[in-house]
Amino acid sequence: MRILVVEDDPNLQKQLSKALGGAGYVVESAQDGEEGCYLGESSEFDAVVLDLGLPRMNGIEVLRRWRAAGRTLPVLILTARDQWSDKVAGIDAGADDYLAKPFHMAELLARLRALIRRSAGHADPLLRNGRLTLDTRSGEVALDGKPVSLTAFEQRLLAYLMHRIGRVVGRGEIIEHIYAQDFDRDSNTVEVFVGRLRKKLGADLIETVRGQGYRLRRDEGDGGRGDDGREVGNGR
Ligand code: CA
Repeated sequence: MRILVVEDDPNLQKQLSKALGGAGYVVESAQDGEEGCYLGESSEFDAVVLDLGLPRMNGIEVLRRWRAAGRTLPVLILTARDQWSDKVAGIDAGADDYLAKPFHMAELLARLRALIRRSAGHADPLLRNGRLTLDTRSGEVALDGKPVSLTAFEQRLLAYLMHRIGRVVGRGEIIEHIYAQDFDRDSNTVEVFVGRLRKKLGADLIETVRGQGYRLRRDEGDGGRGDDGREVGNGR
């Protein structure tokens, strides 16, 4: 998961990057509104933490521009204490949630997880696919209720695919969302991680879609819909 942090206070920026990085997110930072606006328009993120009081362009304007350009990414705004009018303006401009400064980092992380889940259409913090579960709060993965040990990259890749279950995800998109640095970005390593996930979680969990990427197969167990994701019972 890739998060954009737009915050001009270098101390807070550092704390946010550290906490988000520690929680397994890939973090990109911008120190002013113009740079943040540009990054949010030109690059893909799973969520944004956006301060409102920013040099060069304020956060409300940044958010307005993104929404006007049709960018629907989830945005959590940071408002100064007691600035209730900021909250109203932020929500009117298209923010999905807000936190007033000062805040607890744990609360920011919890709200961000909820935003990312909701934007992917999952209300429950425990993502489930057949025998497989992923707890988005702790990052724990289990198969038939038994914990499975994954490396940080394997876990990031699985989380990304679980949030996009049944959809084909390209290698480039995966690389962009699970690696922080350009020098890590070797598309062969994605194949290696997919191979390891198959070994640990089942050979047919992740399907290779030739020339396009990978798809996590939807598995609804024995009843209901089959593995192919098509709905049944809609004949005449
Ligand atoms: Ca600020």
